[in-house]
Amino acid sequence: MTTEVLILDFAALINPPIKGRKITTSFILKEVLNEAEKAIVQARVESGDIEIMDPKSDFLQKASEAAIRTGDFSVLSNPDLSLIAIALELKHKGLNPIILTNDFAIQNVCKFLKIRVKPVGGAKIREQIVWIRICPICRKKYPTDYHGDTCPECGSKLTRKAITKLVPKENNN
Ligand SMILES: [Zn+2]
Repeated sequence: MTTEVLILDFAALINPPIKGRKITTSFILKEVLNEAEKAIVQARVESGDIEIMDPKSDFLQKASEAAIRTGDFSVLSNPDLSLIAIALELKHKGLNPIILTNDFAIQNVCKFLKIRVKPVGGAKIREQIVWIRICPICRKKYPTDYHGDTCPECGSKLTRKAITKLVPKENNN
């Protein structure tokens, strides 16, 4: 039996599973903007509960190539690709990586690469599909309510991406 390693996407980082070895990347950490969440996540990292690992360029390259093959590259951000890359690296080391994510594009690329994926869930939260806008060139993500069709950074036409957002049940009826 190979050792399971859980790789945490943003939603799983905020709501991590209790058991198991947990890893995320500094790209994902940077997505935590809320100060309260930042403090919680930081404490988990400092206590060693969540490990930080950054992808090596050759595995990042392999992840990008796979995403191009599956047609998901234009909707995957650099943080997304970083998760797939470390999963490839851990698999290469003989470990059994499982990415915890609700992102459809990540799931699709992982299926192609035969990397295991599990949805992020929990009793106290429910999922909601939301569309965000993403720049296919500089990979910046913009919220659904962003006004405009073009990226203010580089002027490219934005594409849409479905993501699942975790919302507390209490807030929904
Ligand atoms: Zn752009």
